[in-house]
Amino acid sequence: MLLLPAPAQAATPVLAPAPLTLLRTVDHPAADGIAAFDNGSRQLAKVALTFDADMTPGMLAQLQSGQVRSWYNREVRDVLDAEGVRATVFLTGLWTQAYPEVARSLAEDPLFEIGNHTYDHAAFRLPCYGLAGTSDRAGEIQRSADQIQAATGVRPRLLRFPGDCYDRSDTALASQLGETVISGDVRAGDGFNNSAPAVAATVLRNLQPGSIVIMHIHGGPNAPMTGPALRMILPAARARGLGFATVSEILGRPGSRPPPPVKSAEEVLRPLRQQMLGDSRRTSGQGNRVLAALRQARLRAPRRPLGRLSDHLLP
Ligand SMILES: [Zn+2]
Repeated sequence: MLLLPAPAQAATPVLAPAPLTLLRTVDHPAADGIAAFDNGSRQLAKVALTFDADMTPGMLAQLQSGQVRSWYNREVRDVLDAEGVRATVFLTGLWTQAYPEVARSLAEDPLFEIGNHTYDHAAFRLPCYGLAGTSDRAGEIQRSADQIQAATGVRPRLLRFPGDCYDRSDTALASQLGETVISGDVRAGDGFNNSAPAVAATVLRNLQPGSIVIMHIHGGPNAPMTGPALRMILPAARARGLGFATVSEILGRPGSRPPPPVKSAEEVLRPLRQQMLGDSRRTSGQGNRVLAALRQARLRAPRRPLGRLSDHLLP
């Protein structure tokens, strides 16, 4: 997300204990009152690691000229894979255009959830760490979502603004476009940082249950130490009893990955019925017993849940 060193970490608000069933969140200060999440429930021993895949037109030019070999930090992916760590990756449209196969494999990997990081990483509000501004805010969100959907088949529901620079009207726009704004309460500061221990220390100093940690997966000269820092962060967080989940999971929301379909009673019964019919053909005089067994099986079969209304209303 950030192209320049992150600003000083804001003081973490003190939250009253929330009941487990109600996920307590903190609104982004600049968009108070509109859903923009800095963290998930403080009651769950889980954190959400997030990785932004930036790509500005300038970065794309560096890639095309060979000045930068790659803007995909494969090491980050490998560490998460090896450790079985779930994470959320926010892709820009330009990055997705440059790495469509990687984008698709990330979306297909059950470890990862895909979010939107705008089309070309232009700032929605200025000043924003030297980023160029945009005059087409809706286009920035939609073009990127279109690009991600074309490459991965998944329409992103979560949005992180470039540089975390936005205001209330931007979160309202995101909401109209079906996306929920995700900020974070821990900024790793891995942009332009050559010290893995420093990045790890920043994260571990600020990490708490429910944290959303902002890191990067574009690597190269802009985020060179994310991988080594991650190798330090994972065991230290686990030693504190913290596990890892996607943003949607720690917010208690349905993610971009639909849940597996529940088998209907018919699907459960069909093979059983066919087996029993076959058995009954081979034997004689068992008709009543077969019917009785079928009725019992039908009574025991799982019922398809109706789902809650809120499942269908969430953006
Ligand atoms: Zn970014």
